[in-house]
Amino acid sequence: MKVGILGGGQLARMMALAGYSMGIHTLCLDPIANVCAADVTKVIQADFTDEKQLKAFAEQVDVITFETENIPLSTAEWVNEIKPIYPTLEALKIGQDRWLEKNLFKALCIPTPAFAAINNVTELEQAVAKIGLPAVLKTRRFGYDGKGQLVLKQATDMTGAWEKLGKQALILEQFIPFERELSLIAVREKNGNIQFYPLVENLHKQGILQLSQAPFENNLLQQKAEGYVQAILNKLNYVGTFVIELFQKGEELLANEMAPRVHNSGHWTIEGAVTCQFANHLRAICGLPLGSTAAKGYSAMFNIIGEYPEQKKILSIPEAHYHTYEKQAKPKRKLGHITINVADKAIYEQRLRQLQKIWL
Ligand code: AMP
Repeated sequence: MKVGILGGGQLARMMALAGYSMGIHTLCLDPIANVCAADVTKVIQADFTDEKQLKAFAEQVDVITFETENIPLSTAEWVNEIKPIYPTLEALKIGQDRWLEKNLFKALCIPTPAFAAINNVTELEQAVAKIGLPAVLKTRRFGYDGKGQLVLKQATDMTGAWEKLGKQALILEQFIPFERELSLIAVREKNGNIQFYPLVENLHKQGILQLSQAPFENNLLQQKAEGYVQAILNKLNYVGTFVIELFQKGEELLANEMAPRVHNSGHWTIEGAVTCQFANHLRAICGLPLGSTAAKGYSAMFNIIGEYPEQKKILSIPEAHYHTYEKQAKPKRKLGHITINVADKAIYEQRLRQLQKIWL
């Protein structure tokens, strides 16, 4: 089997690595030269609108997937004419646009913060009057790692907000004073079988994921989140790995956003689950049975952001694993991640503190 991946960043790199041992080969297409997947798999450097190269790419593979939702929908539609693309085009279309996402949640009765579409300053003022402050103003498209959003705390924060976010289609969301952020990763096979990983607890700083811990053990919330995700996956006839990010307030879960792909909050599954999110994504899209999503003990994942730590220090912790994407260091850039995986909870907590001392 050969899988085509649109995008050649770290998610494609880890997918390629997971496929390699199963004899699933990969080929990426990315407009940027020297992307980090190129260290481990072949990458065609071409624009997402380059029909000739897209054709050559699609003809060389059996199925196609993507590592980012920020590819033109027309690119996905185009290659889908040659080879099937998974998850679905519909999932990609919705995952590109926060407004469509929120409407999907609403249609499926999945709780989500109050929201409104904003297309000009007047609509912003009207939405603030309706939703209230504080609120979060976000671009509908292309926002990631906290980019393209502003927290509006008081009425004066509205001044210039429309311009600051580039005078484009926006969404205003009610600000949720959540207890914690959780995510649920799931994977669906072509025959409709869905497997869920345990809930993950996520800590963000300035909109960027810093730390994920799993499993977050709460049966009620696990069941609630699984119900929401099952509704979405079945509605979209989804195939592959999927994530939903949630805000938790007591027994309530509010859907923040979804991603129709493998996800940063699932990197712990490489060492911490029986089958990782990357291997299961490939299995699903290649029509192979899914592997168990059960957690092996307790795991934490720290993102390496902006600068690399001293590898030797990290690896002095015997349960630590060091993943580098071999990217050039740059402020706020995700360069790799560190995981720890321990069977015993007390030792896990000890190791977590040890790692935090070295790393943070
Ligand atoms: P997002 O890009 O939507 O995942 O937002 C990045 C981060 O901003 C989230 O992980 C939250 O920490 C915070 N955030 C986003 N939306 C809201 C909201 N409606 N209420 C409170 N915090 C939010």
